[in-house]
Amino acid sequence: MSDKPEKFIDEKGLRLDGRRVNEIRPMKMEIGVLSRADGSCYLEWGKNKVLAAVYGPRELHPRRLQKADSALIRYRYNMAAFSVEDRIRPGPSRRSIEISKVSREAFEPVVLTHLYPGAVIDVFAEVLQADAGTRTAAINAASMALADAGIPMKGLVSACAVGKVDGQLVLDLNKPEDNYGDADIPMAMTSEGEITLLQMDGDVTQEEFKQAVELCKEGCRQILEIQKETLKNKFTKLEEVEVSD
Ligand code: UDP
Repeated sequence: MSDKPEKFIDEKGLRLDGRRVNEIRPMKMEIGVLSRADGSCYLEWGKNKVLAAVYGPRELHPRRLQKADSALIRYRYNMAAFSVEDRIRPGPSRRSIEISKVSREAFEPVVLTHLYPGAVIDVFAEVLQADAGTRTAAINAASMALADAGIPMKGLVSACAVGKVDGQLVLDLNKPEDNYGDADIPMAMTSEGEITLLQMDGDVTQEEFKQAVELCKEGCRQILEIQKETLKNKFTKLEEVEVSD
């Protein structure tokens, strides 16, 4: 028997978790949580829990993999075995390989790789608890871990999904919307709104697609504010420590 809800949006315009169609789930994040990584971030978004770690830029070995004119970015998205209801088999899967590839590509236009020829920047995104939207949660955390590592970037990358349920576009899908909705369109974008990741599962009309991009920009703007606030808080605290030293 399917657990598909009869309705996803009630007559007051509220979704199953009480949000409006243009609201994201509560998000909080902390940077600098891992002492051995050059940069790190722990992020909670709804019931998702993700840890991102960045190592580098450091010399890439074996040297034959080095790029003469830029750094190589490697990105590994991984779901912990215990992150979902049915245990996930450890090791790479088709899904995690695909997500790692598109997530790496989401950062390539933004990271100033030409400053580090021959180097590698490793990004690890570990999903500890999954509840729909983990690839976008991982990108938001990775973006913060890169900033925490001091990697020069044109700006932060923010990511969010838009979907369609009950004939309406909704921002930041929750689990039932992700499982049973008519479309799932995860996107990542720069602070200028340039899209660096776009995937789509399901069907929307051309007009709906345009609206979905606008709705996602609204979500990414909200996320960018949280990301900027998190960075500001850390550096204000550092300044306070320096002053009191
Ligand atoms: N999921 C799962 N097992 C898997 C993959 C995914 O239970 O092997 C769940 C998980 O909660 C995930 C959701 O399905 O967040 C949606 O997965 P999808 O592939 O759409 O990616 P996501 O939305 O997490 O980026």
